[in-house]
Amino acid sequence: MVKCDVRYTELTLPSESDMPLVNAFTVDVEDYFHVAALASAVSRESWPTRESRVERNTERLLTLLADKRVRGTFFVLGWVAERCPALLRQVVREGHEIACHGYSHQLIYRQSQDEFREETRRAKDILEQAVGQPVLGYRAASFSITRESLWALDVLIDLGFEYDSSIFPIHHDRYGIPGASPRIGPVSAPSGRTLVEFPMNAASFLGLRVPVSGGGYFRIFPYSLIRAGLRQINRRAGQPFMFYLHPWELDPEQPRIRVGMLSRFRHYTNLHRCERRLSTLLEDFSFAPAAEILREQGALRGAMESTSRKMNVA
Ligand SMILES: [Zn+2]
Repeated sequence: MVKCDVRYTELTLPSESDMPLVNAFTVDVEDYFHVAALASAVSRESWPTRESRVERNTERLLTLLADKRVRGTFFVLGWVAERCPALLRQVVREGHEIACHGYSHQLIYRQSQDEFREETRRAKDILEQAVGQPVLGYRAASFSITRESLWALDVLIDLGFEYDSSIFPIHHDRYGIPGASPRIGPVSAPSGRTLVEFPMNAASFLGLRVPVSGGGYFRIFPYSLIRAGLRQINRRAGQPFMFYLHPWELDPEQPRIRVGMLSRFRHYTNLHRCERRLSTLLEDFSFAPAAEILREQGALRGAMESTSRKMNVA
C-alpha cells in the first residue's frame, strides 16, 4: 500500500468544549450538466446549448441562507462566473465568501500540470475581476486532489491560494485519500511548501467510516445519521466540520440526463427532500464562511478584505 504523504500540523482549537463550534457552510456553484457523475452522457461542447438553471438555483439557496441568517463560502466554477458575474456580486453583497471551483470542472488527475495551472489561473482571474476581491480558497472538481495529483497543491500555492478544501479522507471510486488527516491544518505539497487544508469529513459508526460532509451523502443517508455524524465531529473530534452542497441539489425539476444506475442514484436521489432537510441543518448547527473560520484560528497568512462583517439582510 502506498504510504500517504499528506501531513498536517494540528492547529490550536478553542478550549471551551461546551461552546457550539462554528462550521463551514459551502456551495459548489455549478450547473446540473457540469457534474462528474453525468460527464459520460454530457459533452463539454453541449454545455452552451443546455438550459442553464444555476442562477435561479443559487438565488433560491441565497434566499434560504438569508432567511436562516447563515453566511458561507461559494466555490464558483469559472465557466459559470463568466456568464453570471452579477450573481457573484450578489453573493458578496449578502456577506458570503467567493472561492474557486476551477474553470471547466475537469478532474485534476486527468489533466497535465500545465493544463491545470492555466485553467485554474483563468478561473481565479475571472472570479477576482467579477467581485474585486482576492480569492483565497480552492475546491477541486469532484474532490480530485488524490495521491496521484498532489502536485496540484504546488500549483495552488504558486497561484496565490491560501487554503484548499478538496481532500476527502475516505475510499471512493473517483476521489479520496484514505489515511489523510481529517483535521484542519497545513498540508505539505511535493515541493515541501504548505497550504492550509480544510478537509471533508467522515464520522465513525460501529467501526465504519461514513462520509457526512454534504452533497449526495446528505440527500441519501437519513438526516438523523448525518446530524449524529456532524455532532460527533464537533464534540468528539472537537473541530468544525466542512459542509458542502450544489445549487442543483435544490432543483427536483431539473432536466433528467440518461446515465447508468449508480450515477442516477447519486445525482437524483431525494432532490425533492433536500431543501427542507437543509433548512433543518441550518437551524441545528452554527455556520460561517471557511476563510472566516480559518482566520479565527490564525491559519491564513495574508490579510484579505474581511468577510467577517455582519450579515446585512432583511
Ligand atoms: Zn463540482
